[in-house]
Amino acid sequence: MDEFIKELDANLDYLGHEITAEEVIIYVASNRRSCSCPYCGHASMRTHSRYEKSFHDLPVMGKKTKIIIENRKFFCDNQDCTFTTFAERFDFLKQNGKKTKRLIDKIVDISLNTSSAAASRTLKDGVADVGKSTICSLLKKDMPLPEKQSITKVCIDDFAFRKRKTYGTVMVDIDMHRVVDLPASREVGDVTEWLRSYPNIQIVSRMDLFPIRAPLSRLGWA
Ligand SMILES: [Zn+2]
Repeated sequence: MDEFIKELDANLDYLGHEITAEEVIIYVASNRRSCSCPYCGHASMRTHSRYEKSFHDLPVMGKKTKIIIENRKFFCDNQDCTFTTFAERFDFLKQNGKKTKRLIDKIVDISLNTSSAAASRTLKDGVADVGKSTICSLLKKDMPLPEKQSITKVCIDDFAFRKRKTYGTVMVDIDMHRVVDLPASREVGDVTEWLRSYPNIQIVSRMDLFPIRAPLSRLGWA
């Protein structure tokens, strides 16, 4: 287990773990003697306080994994810095992130070759609890958008941005197996207009019909 934790960050020590029906919970601590203030770069060894921080990581023994760290806050002793304290940060986790970067990579990897709904179901079974809209956002953030002219075959699906209150559409390039856009509407008029902005599209499929491909006339646009 220590090795698993050290792969995340060589300065993390494994303290213990517990296994529940749902997940493995791993307790860790950072052994860095000093940390640099993220605002001014000044190194500090003076601890201000500790607080518990938790996030999710790659599965262990086929179960979802939660890591709990007693995170340290340091004083910044640089007189010129606008901040008096700062929390230790880690390269493997975005500030205030709840999933490690390597877990996000895994989610993106699993989601690339399937619909976001199917990916969400697969991931819930032992990898991570992640909804359809989160998967769509992660896929979009993960990759630069391709040239519109290069897109010829797509499949589309709608999804909820916020708990079934706001809907959007996700468009996936069938050849590249990647999300190419996420317009914030699922109205036929808006989607049709949006498809028109891709000049070379020949085939549009519904995600739930994928890989059966429907002609553009299905959307009244061909
Ligand atoms: Zn500072």
